[in-house]
Amino acid sequence: MSPQKKLQGWYQIHKRDLPFRKKKQAYPIWVSEVMLQQTRVNAMLPLYDSFMKRFPTPESLASAEEEEVLSYWKGLGYYSRARNLRKAAIFLVQNYNGSFPKDLNLVLKLPGVGNYTARAILSIAYDLPLAVLDGNVKRVLSRYFGYTENILGSKADTDLQQKADDFLNKDHPGDHNQAMMELGATLCLPESPKCLLCPLTDSCYARIHQKTGEIPLRVKEKKQIQLSAEILVFDFKDKILLVKEPKMRFLKEMFHLPYGFIGEIPEETYEPTSFFLALKELFPSLLALGKFKHTITHHKMEFSVLRQSLKERTQVETLAKNFGVESKWVQLSSLDREFPSSLASKVKKFLLY
Ligand code: SF4
Repeated sequence: MSPQKKLQGWYQIHKRDLPFRKKKQAYPIWVSEVMLQQTRVNAMLPLYDSFMKRFPTPESLASAEEEEVLSYWKGLGYYSRARNLRKAAIFLVQNYNGSFPKDLNLVLKLPGVGNYTARAILSIAYDLPLAVLDGNVKRVLSRYFGYTENILGSKADTDLQQKADDFLNKDHPGDHNQAMMELGATLCLPESPKCLLCPLTDSCYARIHQKTGEIPLRVKEKKQIQLSAEILVFDFKDKILLVKEPKMRFLKEMFHLPYGFIGEIPEETYEPTSFFLALKELFPSLLALGKFKHTITHHKMEFSVLRQSLKERTQVETLAKNFGVESKWVQLSSLDREFPSSLASKVKKFLLY
């Protein structure tokens, strides 16, 4: 019997009875996959149930207010994922009548949907022959095939995706993907894998060569993080607004120009603050002055400079106060002194023309 068939047989006996696996429908699978990116199944299930009761279809999610969607995301963190989920639901309703396109490249265009999620949805809901690669699957594949290179290295994903594609059971791609993930989560554990119970034990390289302790090799390389940000210049008469926000990822110890990260946010710590979002809402037509690049350690950022000249300053000051943010007004000529970061001089260049 082929290893794929053994795996399929094992999965049919050992699969967990999970609500999102009951029907082969893209929407519940999508919601569950996004939730599972940040929490374990048992912790996620009650939150999943209440989310699905309130938003049972892409249409119901698309027509809900963002705030309500976020309130159903409480306990899961990474609120940008909930925002993207809603945005993607709106996109699906507007462009595909609320259903998922059966095409990897089209699904990858949805906000917040990466390679893993797209492949999981399409293989599980539509049985498209697309192999998934998550942390569990990488561990199983590297042990099974004896992949001895660093699985955190830059080429590992390409190498292991190739192995995952070759190993895929094309008759049952959805079940196969879930079986691989389940195997990694329950038997092929990082420490002390339960090889005697494993359906792949006869042909597994690491088991045969007693190398389960060495494979996979994990050597952390500091990954470069790409970020897009907006930095805001509010001027009143000849002065500029600086703020001090304790919740910021960078510059939290100093007065600085208000800024926030936008677009794809890699981790919760980079999410824009509520104060920044409220400022953007209060001034929806900020004038774009230009862009510049900025690097802080392994963060590569692109900042857009946006400006608003104010007729009065109390509105902004009150907003800052309401969000517990300190504010002050400084002369442009003293900006570098008051905001001692190279960001200040980069922004200043746009203001001197
Ligand atoms: S035999 Fe052991 S090491 Fe190999 S895939 Fe199964 S659990 Fe993992």
